[in-house]
Amino acid sequence: MTLEGKVALVTGSTSGIGLGIARSLARAGASIMMNGFGDADEIESLRSQLAEEFGVSVAFDGADVSRGEGVNRLVAATNDVLGDVDVLVNNAGIQFVAPIEEFPDDRWEAIIGLNLSAAFYSMKAVIPAMKTKGWGRIINVASAHGLVASPDKVAYVAAKHGIVGATKVAALELAHHGVTVNAICPGWVLTPLVERQLLDRAQQSGTEIVIEMERLLAEKQPMPKFTTPESIGAMVVFLCSNEAETITGAALSIDGGWTAQ
Ligand code: NAD
Repeated sequence: MTLEGKVALVTGSTSGIGLGIARSLARAGASIMMNGFGDADEIESLRSQLAEEFGVSVAFDGADVSRGEGVNRLVAATNDVLGDVDVLVNNAGIQFVAPIEEFPDDRWEAIIGLNLSAAFYSMKAVIPAMKTKGWGRIINVASAHGLVASPDKVAYVAAKHGIVGATKVAALELAHHGVTVNAICPGWVLTPLVERQLLDRAQQSGTEIVIEMERLLAEKQPMPKFTTPESIGAMVVFLCSNEAETITGAALSIDGGWTAQ
């Protein structure tokens, strides 16, 4: 299956799951707008490697998508440099862990801004052109925490449940326009976001990271395995295919059985 001629915007694609998704979409032939933070030279090297390896156009814009203006600037830059967005992947996200009574207000605002509001602003910005073309794919990277809760993650769980709801609304509104909207709900994926949690846990318990890795998986997943960014990328590419044209409004788990319990 090919996405040649399609333009894909993947937020938070300088690392982890977003980078895996960008690679999968580039392999399928899409032009890619990368976004995210990090060292400028490392990002440029990722961008040029992706373009060279798969022979597609790859651009980068470091807009902060936790604010509406940043999202609008990113979508406008994508339209200017690559063309109208055909595939939107809302992936950028952050985490913070603390009980509600100690949860800092600014962490609540930041997580809701990036993990939830960014998807509202980006969908709002790309939907008109998708409707005009009569084709589009919107994929929101939610989480198992979009379906079930854990203690100490109030902002993250609220944002991820919210993005699942927004996905359903968008799917209903676009059902007659050739545009599908779905959420992907991964379990544990070993990325910097989870590595930071593992480091905190190892420091608190005084054990080694590898022990905390086993504990983390055992606490939530019947299957003691991390999902890979590549597997999530493959799921995104499938959702972009014609065969997936009636999958819409779904919250698709890829979580080692986490939410089956
Ligand atoms: P990560 O920390 O590896 O990557 C996050 C990406 O977002 C990076 O590219 C970072 O630069 C970018 N980013 C951060 N703040 C940004 C901002 N304000 N504007 C633009 N970009 C910004 O994390 P990850 O684990 O790859 O997470 C990606 C998504 O997957 C998140 O939405 C996360 O909630 C979700 N998720 C992760 C897991 C997991 O186990 N890792 C599980 C379920 C869902």
